[in-house]
Amino acid sequence: MRIDGDWIEADGVQRVLHLLTDAGHQGLLVGGCVRNALLHQPVADIDIATDAVPERVIALAKAAGLKVVPTGIEHGTVTIIVAGEPHEVTTFRRDVETHGRHATVAFATRIEEDAARRDFTMNALYADAGGRLIDPLGGLPDLLERRVRFVGDAGARIREDYLRILRFFRFHAWYGDPEVGMDAGALSACAENSVGTESLSRERIGHEMRRLLAAPDPAPAVAAMRATGVLGRVLPGTDPRALAPLVHLEPPYAPDWLRRLAALGGPDPTDALRLSRDEARKLTVLSDGIGSMEGPAELAYRHGAELARDVVLLRAAVLEAPLPEGWEIDVARGAGAEFPLRASDLMPTLSGPELGARLKELETRWIASGFELSREQLLA
Ligand code: ATP
Ligand code: MG
Repeated sequence: MRIDGDWIEADGVQRVLHLLTDAGHQGLLVGGCVRNALLHQPVADIDIATDAVPERVIALAKAAGLKVVPTGIEHGTVTIIVAGEPHEVTTFRRDVETHGRHATVAFATRIEEDAARRDFTMNALYADAGGRLIDPLGGLPDLLERRVRFVGDAGARIREDYLRILRFFRFHAWYGDPEVGMDAGALSACAENSVGTESLSRERIGHEMRRLLAAPDPAPAVAAMRATGVLGRVLPGTDPRALAPLVHLEPPYAPDWLRRLAALGGPDPTDALRLSRDEARKLTVLSDGIGSMEGPAELAYRHGAELARDVVLLRAAVLEAPLPEGWEIDVARGAGAEFPLRASDLMPTLSGPELGARLKELETRWIASGFELSREQLLA
């Protein structure tokens, strides 16, 4: 079995792999890039694994005149820059000691050890510079049948790192077979250990939840998260019922994790998921918009076309209402509308709070007129 793709042929990837193999080491592509190439899906980031220890990788890169940065040296990762492009190289590792949050690792020399500490069999696939597949754990059949299967005993692996619970749902949403459903043993291990997710950092939870909700259809995985009690631990008070209808209504618009997050309702997740200020602001617009009386045009005038469109989709999904007729035209109209008055138009007759109140009142009238009233009509 062989994988291919422009990304493998790329000079930088070939150069880094040969840098290792020419020196007598193993140099292998691993993880998401190999998995996605086998599924003919886009490859986002490229991870390279080697039996060479980080100091040796650094020495080899320097000897070849390449820039190298110790980006995660404590985890065995260094980044080699070739023609401005970063390439992450991680030394084979094995888990030695765990605290249920981060596995403490030691370097290893055998690929089987490195494979055994990875989370799922479909993520423990390797390929050499020629694209030849190396599958130490028999992950290929699982991948092709779209089975997300833990490497080893699900419960034991989860207790080493509780993030693997969230990763199980994330990878299922992206690569699992929704018809076949999820591995029953893994699901009960997630349920039994769900309390462990409370010890995870909010950054790690936020990262996984973003990626889960960005999947083409995360609804079945999120429903399973709810059923196992994991959703209630990570985002207490949420309800995933509106998610499937939302996903159904979305096309032709692209999946958007924040829109999906808004569909879950519940208390403000800004802290729980470590949202940025901008994300938190948008989420507030979306959540408040679901229950507000503003029509599509007014929403678009106030918040822009994209947030208005998301509110319209969310309302339909959450309130189980049909999409309002002509809403896309209304959104475009509202997004393009410009209020024809300035504060200076009302001065010096009005000033201070009075001026603000009057301006607001005129703006409300103008919006109610469908953005039709002119400057002169408003001032009359
Ligand atoms: P993506 O395309 O989303 O980046 P990925 O498989 O590359 O998918 P990463 O989170 O980038 O996922 O992790 C890279 C690889 O490292 C995984 O494929 C897996 O082999 C391993 N890995 C990452 N996190 C864990 C973890 N918590 N436990 C065990 N193995 C992990
Ligand atoms: Mg990755």
